[in-house]
Amino acid sequence: MLPTEVLEKSSQALLDFQGKGFGIAEVSHRGKEFEGVLDEAITRCKRLLGLGDTHDVLFMQGGATQLFTLVPMNFLHTSADYMVGGEWSKKATAGAKELGKFNIVASSEATNFDHSPPPSEWKLSKDVDYFHVCSNETVHGHRLPQWPSHPNLIVDASSEFMSRPHPVKDCALVYAGSQKNLGPAGVVLVVVRKDMYPKQKKTPSKLWSFKDEAENKSMLNTPPTFGIYILLETFRWLESKGGLDAMEKINATKAGLLYGAIDESNGFYKGTVSVKEQRSHMNVTYRLPSEELTDEFIKTAAKNDMVALKGYRTVGGIRASIYNAMPVEGCKALSQFMRDFASKKS
Ligand code: PMP
Repeated sequence: MLPTEVLEKSSQALLDFQGKGFGIAEVSHRGKEFEGVLDEAITRCKRLLGLGDTHDVLFMQGGATQLFTLVPMNFLHTSADYMVGGEWSKKATAGAKELGKFNIVASSEATNFDHSPPPSEWKLSKDVDYFHVCSNETVHGHRLPQWPSHPNLIVDASSEFMSRPHPVKDCALVYAGSQKNLGPAGVVLVVVRKDMYPKQKKTPSKLWSFKDEAENKSMLNTPPTFGIYILLETFRWLESKGGLDAMEKINATKAGLLYGAIDESNGFYKGTVSVKEQRSHMNVTYRLPSEELTDEFIKTAAKNDMVALKGYRTVGGIRASIYNAMPVEGCKALSQFMRDFASKKS
């Protein structure tokens, strides 16, 4: 979901950009209107993330899934380390499999990804090309409380980007599909540390080279202009709300409301994450005592205008995704609904 303010401003710009009589999706990507949008989006994105000149901001396509392949295509020479804490970080290794050697430093697959293996269990290699992690496992509802430090850390932050401050300035590369917190599907926000460019391999097409994309300001071909415009509106919105520190506080309040309803339900709701400190502030996942009750919960919630609560197709149960745009009131309403439902059914 996206903030209403972002949607309203974007729809206005789609009809009439700054009173010019034409919409932002109708202009040339090489014209001064879009150039202004791109420059402001890059400036605001860097400011939100506290980045200086060490990193580039790119707007790419192909979804976060394409990055699973582009990362090894560009940087995997000898070997890379991957941490596998859930379906998405496992899928990231599938991209590397095609392209070279890698080592899984730890995996929680044996316990159905009910947590993220803690740093004490990671078997990191020496001198790898990079270390890849997924900072928030969308399907299983856990996150890395702190992003690890590593000389060449690469982070898939798709489902939590800009929901809290992130140490992006210490990372080699961070990527996020837009469709959770930033904008519409079709844009992938990529932040690359410039000292990674000399380490790149030659890619089959320049379109897949981070360095070439950066040198061409993400315009090797026509970029998804309207999608990027929506990201700009989201960055403006985030700054107007007080930036990522403020988002972190709001998101902690929202998540606290739902985890409170789970923890105080005398076991009626069971959180799926076994390590409490790792509970995601974006995807709250839990189960009810039976499939029947789960179905009834989803249907009754929908009647009360609370939708999209069905857990991911491979795991079932309930998943409440409470991205940045979800207001505190939404979480209050769901937590009250959870309490009422539990007291009626237990
Ligand atoms: N990584 C994570 C953490 C995700 O949540 C998703 C999608 N939900 C992806 C990667 C894949 O994104 P896309 O569908 O945009 O390729």
